[in-house]
Amino acid sequence: MIKGSQLYEGKAKKVFATDEEELLIVSYKDDATAFNGLKKGTIVGKGIINNKMSNALMRLLEKSGVPTHYVKELSDRETLVKKVRIVPLEVIIRNISAGSFAKRYGVEEGIVFASPTIEFSYKNDDLGDPLINDYHAFALNLVTPKELDIIKEYSFKINEILKSFWKSCGVTLVDFKLEFGRLSNGDIVLADEISPDTCRLWDSETGKKLDKDRFRRDLGGVEDAYQEIMARLESKLEVSK
Ligand code: C5P
Repeated sequence: MIKGSQLYEGKAKKVFATDEEELLIVSYKDDATAFNGLKKGTIVGKGIINNKMSNALMRLLEKSGVPTHYVKELSDRETLVKKVRIVPLEVIIRNISAGSFAKRYGVEEGIVFASPTIEFSYKNDDLGDPLINDYHAFALNLVTPKELDIIKEYSFKINEILKSFWKSCGVTLVDFKLEFGRLSNGDIVLADEISPDTCRLWDSETGKKLDKDRFRRDLGGVEDAYQEIMARLESKLEVSK
């Protein structure tokens, strides 16, 4: 596999072409941003943790029948993935109130919902990723009704798999964000990453936050939290060394 030119640099990752048309290389950075790029920083070692964690979780999901873009881990920070056309929606699943949900509806964090919720944001930095509903997403041709049905089905299935996995690690999966893409044949697969950058993960006993909220809210111990959550994952799931 030959690494080609850089195609894109995002807030936390770079994407490179390869000598195979349908494959790309993703490279994870230590850069951290929050509040649509207003807050910037570095979380030392984050790129390695997010790469390895995301890959381990995607392998787990694949085993459970959820198709993903994951192909092969190449190194500490680099992974070979299938090329997709990203559906420009952020899919957010919540099991417990927190973050923007708690703020929007004026409720405290930590309310356990009777059943999980789903919401969508339109991926558009200039607009600040506004909330969007199904009908508006169809009107803007962001996704078809058939694709959105598949995305919803996969998202709730992913929630069940990840919730029970993290429970076995003594961690509560509060909420998380997913992104999906279309393969060249049109099939929908899970893309992007699943990591402490994109999930809220609380210690089941103490409620300690083991995710990017430590960076967003200046709680301190950011690097330690990323290492702690990775160690929890490694105690239950195979991770490449
Ligand atoms: O901020 P909010 O409560 O809407 O975030 C919900 C979940 O989605 C959190 O787990 C957060 O880490 C994730 N998220 C994300 N990227 C965004 C917005 C939210 O990964 N741009």
